Amino acid sequence: MIQNVLVLGAGSAGLIAAISVKRKIPQLNVRVVRSPDIGVIGVGEGTTPNFPKHMFDYLGISRRYFYAAAQPTWKIGIRFLWGPREKFFYTFSLQLDSHWAEMARPIGYYCDEDFGYADLPAALMAHDKVFARQPNSAPDIQPWHGFHVENRKLVDVLETIARDVGVEIIDGKVSGAERGDKGISAVFLEDGRKLEADFFVDSSGFRSELIGRTFEEPFISFDRSLFCDRAVVGGWARSDEPILPYTTAETMDAGWSWQIEHEHFVNRGYVYASQAISDDEAEAEFRRKNPKVPSTRVVKFRSGRYRHSWVDNVVAIGNSGGFVEPLEATALMVVCSQSQTLVDFLLHSGLSPTPTMRKLYNEMVAMMWDEIRDFLAVHYRANTRLDTPFWRHCREDTDVSSIEPLLEFYKENGPTGFARHLIPSTGSNFGIEGFLVMLVGNRVPYKAKYHPTPAEWEVWKRRRSELAAQARAGLDIKEALAYVRHPEWQWFGDSAR
Ligand SMILES: Cc1cc2nc3c(=O)[nH]c(=O)nc-3n(C[C@H](O)[C@H](O)[C@H](O)COP(=O)(O)OP(=O)(O)OC[C@H]3O[C@@H](n4cnc5c(N)ncnc54)[C@H](O)[C@@H]3O)c2cc1C
Repeated sequence: MIQNVLVLGAGSAGLIAAISVKRKIPQLNVRVVRSPDIGVIGVGEGTTPNFPKHMFDYLGISRRYFYAAAQPTWKIGIRFLWGPREKFFYTFSLQLDSHWAEMARPIGYYCDEDFGYADLPAALMAHDKVFARQPNSAPDIQPWHGFHVENRKLVDVLETIARDVGVEIIDGKVSGAERGDKGISAVFLEDGRKLEADFFVDSSGFRSELIGRTFEEPFISFDRSLFCDRAVVGGWARSDEPILPYTTAETMDAGWSWQIEHEHFVNRGYVYASQAISDDEAEAEFRRKNPKVPSTRVVKFRSGRYRHSWVDNVVAIGNSGGFVEPLEATALMVVCSQSQTLVDFLLHSGLSPTPTMRKLYNEMVAMMWDEIRDFLAVHYRANTRLDTPFWRHCREDTDVSSIEPLLEFYKENGPTGFARHLIPSTGSNFGIEGFLVMLVGNRVPYKAKYHPTPAEWEVWKRRRSELAAQARAGLDIKEALAYVRHPEWQWFGDSAR
């Protein structure tokens, strides 16, 4: 039976895993070892809605505390400057995969020409507002939001929470591991200390110390679907720019650029393929489009996953086990999901996980990564905005073979949610809605065009003007933050800390 857990790494992944395990299985002794010399990656600042759900609903962390300490802003979607349209919005709600009673078809069929907004979150995004207003003027904070949160602030807050819940944090650099009959029995630190445990979480970031280096688990590269492998990162102190309630993803010559909206800082980064553009050229293009950036740094990465994320008594969580480039900001989503599944598997096995549980866990994690890969691949395959060599290569050569049936179905039938039966897994936050937004947003052609009746267009116009009115009356991020920071603001069901 597992009694002692050692987490290698105190980035956001290691800390979330440690807090989850300790909070849900308090009888376990949970320690984290981290190297202050190596530090944390310092990027990874956009989340999906499962992150706040994990923090507040699952772990019971106080919203009041988290908002004060981590200072997140809300992210209600991604604004894509992508494809033939000027822009389109991807929200965390069900927009296209929904059906209004008065209309014959799902909403996607009405968005060919004008894919502005067809639900409240998208209408809010279109008006740069984050939440609708309640009758008392306060923000109506709905669960379809993620966060923008600065990586270093998040890591500091997670460290405080980890200590609070009883996790011990040890500073030291791991230099090797001792193998035992169950897998790993101890790790050695450079200063000679030996840390024993009967279960290990490898959250050592891209170094992948245990799963990669010690176990030499094969790495499955996604390089036939995702060509980008570097990012040039920079940002500037916010002056009078409005704080936008979404991430912007903008097409660039050899990749794309993010804009992440912190309260006092605008974070930008250009994700590119080193085979298509040099670091210097990428930096020059990035600076040309972002003249306010004072300095930049390059981060290298590879998209893919280890064949197994759980081997013997080691499970990899975070960048150590898998990573896809950040176009949909999915890493923390996977970290939270993996942490919850690990906790469940430990609990359901009475702290003695069986080989079949390990096998199932590996299959579930692999499916999640592969689905995200497929979803991102469609972003590249469908984007016709630029005619550079990189984008021509993406349109022609991005491997989408595992979702070919879905694409064929769409090309014949258009945006019906029945296509959900053709995606390999529905384990992510995206599901068929995500694929439909990409296909409709990029105006991928389909044969079975639908021509709405005049009566339907009347309903469409009326609904959209109602949505616009509701959005216009909503709150922007500044006003909503002022509400939740007011001493009298009450979070429904908030815990003490
Ligand atoms: C360009 C880019 C953009 C990204 N954007 C997003 C995003 O918007 N949203 C998102 O969710 N994710 C994003 N990510 C992923 C992001 O990095 C992760 O979400 C997140 O920060 C988790 O990192 P981590 O904890 O796995 O690794 P790290 O932060 O690198 O932490 C690794 C830890 O392991 C320790 N360590 C390593 N080796 C040793 C050793 N030998 N001994 C002791 N300690 C060791 C380090 O000291 C550190 O504490 C992005 C990644 C990149 C590259």
